[in-house]
Amino acid sequence: MARTLITGVTGQDGSFLAEELIARGHEVHGTTLRSNEAVVAGARAHQLDLSGSGIGALVRELRPDTIYNLAAISSVNGSWQQPELTSKVNGLAVAEMLAAVHELQGGGHEVRFLQASSAEIFGIPTDVPQTEATAIRPTSPYGAAKAYAHGLVGAYRAAGVFASGVILYNHESPRRPETFVTRKITAAAARISLGLQDRLELGNLAARRDWGWAPDYVNALLRVAEAERPDDFVIATGVAHSVEEFVALAFARVGIDGWQRYVTVTKDLLRPGDAPQQLGDASHARDELGWSPTVVFAQIVEKMVDHDVALASTT
Ligand code: GDP
Repeated sequence: MARTLITGVTGQDGSFLAEELIARGHEVHGTTLRSNEAVVAGARAHQLDLSGSGIGALVRELRPDTIYNLAAISSVNGSWQQPELTSKVNGLAVAEMLAAVHELQGGGHEVRFLQASSAEIFGIPTDVPQTEATAIRPTSPYGAAKAYAHGLVGAYRAAGVFASGVILYNHESPRRPETFVTRKITAAAARISLGLQDRLELGNLAARRDWGWAPDYVNALLRVAEAERPDDFVIATGVAHSVEEFVALAFARVGIDGWQRYVTVTKDLLRPGDAPQQLGDASHARDELGWSPTVVFAQIVEKMVDHDVALASTT
């Protein structure tokens, strides 16, 4: 039976991925930060803080066939408050895992390693759209740590390890926490429409992001794991929309035309180094893996708003 290790198995992507792999008959192991986190039924949980050492030992002990490294300090904004923690979890832990993978390979056991890389490695991008060849120039501690990890993946790949860097653009679902702007907006629109909340405070409304549907991106991860060769792949929709457009659609979905009456912009939520636009070109993934997104922007907003209206109506 194929044995898979997913770091960050309780996160948005980790939970979708674990469900899919269990359905396919894999033995799924996952790391969780805390002991009390709910893990997908059938997955085996290992409590482990990636800011300390221990992940290398777990990899050597489990001898998985595939590792999906999805655990991270996931907030770009939060990484400014915790740059050292972000470096350890998003950067150094990857060095520890790859060293263990390399060692296992030396002993004759091949491990496929997939790194959840990020559009944030490009910082304020020089190319529009961005590809696997775009200059890596991060503008946040989060992006810098992800860039380091991305570099490590390339180095170990050159040394013969099956290591792929999957450069994931923003991808959303109702499993996103409200620390991300999409879920913050859809949860607020739902609550405001039901009279449970008065206002929504946001930061940069002009930021344009290439938002995709998380299950599509998990499908891309599975394809990268099964590919003939390891490589770097941009995973994106190729279409960008502004935060303001997201807000307008979300409020329209709950029947509110004048969203401006409810939204306040606050300087506290603006971030240093925030890219005005991220836009990915996933041609390489389409050509090599046959991957393309199936859910477009308006559908993502609708699915998330409808979920949050149902949730707010019952709580
Ligand atoms: P991330 O940047 O990939 O972590 O995704 P986010 O959902 O946190 O942010 C996406 C974009 O929304 C960024 O350009 C933020 O500056 C912008 N944004 C505007 N207002 C907010 C807000 O209130 N919260 C968050 N998280 N992002 C915001």
